[in-house]
Amino acid sequence: MNLHEYQARDILRRYGIPIPPGEVAETPEQAREIAQRLAGTGGGSGGRVVVKAQVHAGGRGKAGGVKLAKDAAEAGEHAARILGMSIKGLPVRRVLVTPAAEIASESYLGIIVDRASQRPVLMVSPAGGVDIEEVAAKTPERIHRLAVDPRYGLLAHQALGLALKLYREMPQARAAADIMQRLYAAFYAVGASLMEINPLVATPDGTVAALDAKIVVDDNELERHPEIAALRDPSAEAPSEVQARQAGLTFIKLEGSVGCCVNGAGLAMATMDLVKYYGGEPANFLDIGGSSNPQKVVDALRIITADRSVRSILFNIFGGITRCDDVANGIVQATQQFPMKVPLVIRLTGTNEALAIEILTKAGFSALTDMDEAVKQAVAKARAA
Ligand code: GDP
Ligand code: MN
Repeated sequence: MNLHEYQARDILRRYGIPIPPGEVAETPEQAREIAQRLAGTGGGSGGRVVVKAQVHAGGRGKAGGVKLAKDAAEAGEHAARILGMSIKGLPVRRVLVTPAAEIASESYLGIIVDRASQRPVLMVSPAGGVDIEEVAAKTPERIHRLAVDPRYGLLAHQALGLALKLYREMPQARAAADIMQRLYAAFYAVGASLMEINPLVATPDGTVAALDAKIVVDDNELERHPEIAALRDPSAEAPSEVQARQAGLTFIKLEGSVGCCVNGAGLAMATMDLVKYYGGEPANFLDIGGSSNPQKVVDALRIITADRSVRSILFNIFGGITRCDDVANGIVQATQQFPMKVPLVIRLTGTNEALAIEILTKAGFSALTDMDEAVKQAVAKARAA
């Protein structure tokens, strides 16, 4: 689950990380009022504020979603423009208004769960502000990494060692090291899979502060953290993922054209691998779950067919606890409820396979039992469409 920047800022602030204050606006008028109020509290920014789009996307700065305003009136104008924007397909419904900081340098701080080392890895770079992916591609030597042993956490000397890659002045290095340890504590406490501060800035007077915050929380942690789960904003998520969650399906939207409807996460992964192997691109990851019923199949098809980039739909069902006839009935019911605008390729084998094939044949569908053959056909049909 993604958090908005303003939510991530609140969390990091609670862990003692220095972050300028800020408030969220839904209208230009509110943005103007907040800017006025922030100017009244001083803060050394001379009334200048930053207006920032609150969407689940990075690179807002480049997209025009982060704007400096010299006064409250200009903050209102920027807010009006940003509130009308979409960034990476996501409509901007809220902006954060925060006092503008003076920037002497921008660094990057991030922690991710790293599968290779099976640990949280802290990454820092003096080349902050820009896309860290770009730094990783062009100047990888400017990124410094440390795998943290979760038994001990991030130790003071480790943090200081990394902080000295960012700052030569000792007071700034100490401040950055303290921020790293606090970031690690927050990361561990909320069950994040990613936490990022980009940019971490030094101001001309030598203060170190976080000006941006990104947090992704592992969905499996949400049950343990109801206070984090409550921060979910479905209006900021891909509509297909929201519908899938409501239907009890495990669904992740991807960029390709072959819609996949599979039972079991392992088979879903194998199916996506095969789609790629035969030259196609999956449009989604979808696991209809172990004990399917026809309704889940109807829900799944409704979500997949609503995606305009889908050119063919591949069913790959291995009947165990899942009964193939349930899936077949779901497919038939779905076609009665809404039009299938793209070709279906159905492969099913296992429990009640013969019954399923009978149901499908009666309804005018053909079914395959060979997985390779089915994937090849689905890829070919997506290409031909
Ligand atoms: P992102 O592009 O989505 O990562 O949004 P950021 O919050 O990181 O902002 C993008 C860029 O805007 C930063 O790298 C800064 O260069 C600039 N920026 C953000 N906040 C401030 C600020 O308070 N003062 C100044 N001068 N620049 C800022
Ligand atoms: Mn940023």
